[in-house]
Amino acid sequence: MIYYDKVSKTYPDKTIALEGVSFSVEPKEFVTIVGHSGAGKTTLMKLLIAEDRPTEGAVYFESANIHKLGKGATAKLRRRIGTVFQDYRLIPTKTVYENIAFAMEAVGRKDKEIASDVPHVLELVDLGHKIWNFPRELSGGERQRVAIARAIVTQPDVIIADEPTGNLDPTNTYEIVRILRKINELGTTVLLTTHNKGVVDAVGGRVITMEKGKVVRDDKDGKYVL
Ligand code: ADP
Repeated sequence: MIYYDKVSKTYPDKTIALEGVSFSVEPKEFVTIVGHSGAGKTTLMKLLIAEDRPTEGAVYFESANIHKLGKGATAKLRRRIGTVFQDYRLIPTKTVYENIAFAMEAVGRKDKEIASDVPHVLELVDLGHKIWNFPRELSGGERQRVAIARAIVTQPDVIIADEPTGNLDPTNTYEIVRILRKINELGTTVLLTTHNKGVVDAVGGRVITMEKGKVVRDDKDGKYVL
């Protein structure tokens, strides 16, 4: 489904972020990408949503070279990939409902569908009771659950969660991991990046370890060796 083929990325200031990275991800897999800060994890994710291009090599999504797609096809690809980031990226002036509704409007969903899907997706992240609150009235863990709800409400094929627990305490971290696993069990491919050993141990499953822009391990059954 996703294939990184000998991908290298050197930024304009000559920083080498990725070097000869190859791996593939099958539909419905849960892959955790671990590595210290600066190892290249975020760069990997940015290439997948065509926010940046590789210097060498190619990234494929269902056999299409992502960086050879036209504008329309790139927009379509991005709709198939939901994103969750460390800093939540909610709109502070909108309620929880409006934040999620906004993401649905952006992809052309009708008001009726929005009204019925938003409460449903909030139930999935155990936040039905916060639907009319503003982000500032929520804890970090709750904000991240809203961000996850927003990412999945358009039913993407893949969720990228880039260091989603970076600002959270262990209890909230575990809750986010549990929700991501649940989403994966419902059939969505999940790519999770983290530098946190506790997260890796809680997730289990496949772990790809990055070091200085290279894949140094790819284990089927989750180990954190750094
Ligand atoms: P990680 O997500 O594992 O912390 P990143 O992919 O963010 O790693 O960064 C990999 C390397 O690329 C780091 O050395 C970082 O400083 C560098 N880097 C990231 N983005 C840029 C950029 N836009 N310009 C220059 N260097 C960058």
